[in-house]
Amino acid sequence: MKVAIYPGSFDPVTYGHIDIVKRGVALFDRVIVLVSINPAKPHCFFTLEQRLDFLARTVGKLPNVEIDSYCGLLVDYFSEKKADVIIKGLRAMSDFEAEFQQALVNKDLFHKAETVFLAADVASTFLSSSMVKQIAMFGGDISAFVPPAILHEIQAKLEEKRIKLTEN
Ligand code: ADP
Repeated sequence: MKVAIYPGSFDPVTYGHIDIVKRGVALFDRVIVLVSINPAKPHCFFTLEQRLDFLARTVGKLPNVEIDSYCGLLVDYFSEKKADVIIKGLRAMSDFEAEFQQALVNKDLFHKAETVFLAADVASTFLSSSMVKQIAMFGGDISAFVPPAILHEIQAKLEEKRIKLTEN
């Protein structure tokens, strides 16, 4: 039984993340999508509850997929779950540098923590959560980037934010 952990902020989940989850379950027996509470990224736009809810509604029903959150060292969670690999998606060389460094650190902290990199699908190499938020904030169409189940909620929250910003 090979268990993979796919960590990230998922602020919000996009089709790019979903593609990695689906490919992850094709390779491993169980994939835990882990919303990591990352002190390096303290300013997520969506709350932890919202990000977990978006994941539950988009990938939560896929067979062998679990959703969880964790505040702490990824390697501690990895060891607790007796996981086999950490999955990371790579969109460009710019992702590689940070992810490579992180993979080396995790391996150094816990020798069993192997990281597997999956190349992003061509269609989503340019896709990021921050791009989705920017487009939605200015009323652009994000239907190609996030599933219908969460589309309107994302748009509404960003519209609220845009109104607040223009009021100030
Ligand atoms: P971001 O890096 O956009 O802030 P996350 O922290 O949620 O997003 O990313 C979690 C993981 O998913 C990382 O390994 C990241 O490289 C990967 N990822 C994010 N967007 C995509 C995408 N469009 N295609 C493939 N992998 C992606």
